[in-house]
Amino acid sequence: MDFTKLPKVELHCHLDGGMDMDLVAEYLESKGEKVSREELTGRLVVPANCTSLADYLKCFDLPCQVLQTKENLRRQAYCLAKADALEGVTYLETRFAPNFHKNEGLNLDEILDAVALGLEDAKKEFGIESGILVCAMRHMSLEDNLAVLKAAREHLGSGVVGFDIAGDEAAFPMEMFTDLFHEAKRLEIPYTIHAGECGRAENVRGAIELGTRRVGHGIAMDGHADIMKMCADKHVGVEMCPTSNLQTHALESLNDYPIRRYLDAGIPVSINTDNRTVSGISLSHEYQVLDDIFHFTDEDLRRIYRDSVDVAFASDDVKEALLRKF
Ligand SMILES: [Zn+2]
Repeated sequence: MDFTKLPKVELHCHLDGGMDMDLVAEYLESKGEKVSREELTGRLVVPANCTSLADYLKCFDLPCQVLQTKENLRRQAYCLAKADALEGVTYLETRFAPNFHKNEGLNLDEILDAVALGLEDAKKEFGIESGILVCAMRHMSLEDNLAVLKAAREHLGSGVVGFDIAGDEAAFPMEMFTDLFHEAKRLEIPYTIHAGECGRAENVRGAIELGTRRVGHGIAMDGHADIMKMCADKHVGVEMCPTSNLQTHALESLNDYPIRRYLDAGIPVSINTDNRTVSGISLSHEYQVLDDIFHFTDEDLRRIYRDSVDVAFASDDVKEALLRKF
């Protein structure tokens, strides 16, 4: 099956992990550095045999340097949504931590506006619907994260559709973020939470208890029937990112990937790239590698699409239009 032709929804896609190669090449050239495509790939894409999280994270250094101006933020958002649109994605939620883009003087409002404009550009040209998820970071102070949350709330409906937290789950478990998510709940901003990407199932339980509507990765709850049941009962969406999970060693083989067990448990599942440039993949590729193992039926694919729309943070009007496309 040609998965580029299948209508798809992408809910977990980092803006800085899906860098446009031309944008980065032009940035380096403007700094007097001419690099071949091969060198660029070496700096932005993890090696196939990536064995360390440090190697994986190193691939975000250069994107962070590039994404310090309004122009580059806008263009990157446009390019990412375009790449998704060209492979059949009808709706994209892209996420990023705006605090990483303040190094050259931009403020949170300018950063969020620039990304929203880029998504708008892509929508006009390719018809792809989209929204921004604003990421807090686990290692940052509550004060900084609350400022990010406040900015996200102010931009809700003007490009922003929701809130998230990313970063080191093992060092900063869910219990540390009770105040932050109680505030998010009080502000009535939808949120998803990176949880269960590492081996800590309790983070998934904690995220659900904090009222999250979705969980990023959720791999660690595999085998915990009580947490899986809680996830299904509360209709919490799980954003699955297979290649990324292999590269960060959330699991050692996709043969063990829990997608079929999650589907069977009644959990709403979406398939995502996480970081398409860093991993050197497309969303269609992620569908293909899982299909090779789990042999999706038409009914599975239809369900994944409809459940993804259902747990998306789009407006009801947008959701209705998206459902008509599959
Ligand atoms: Zn992620």
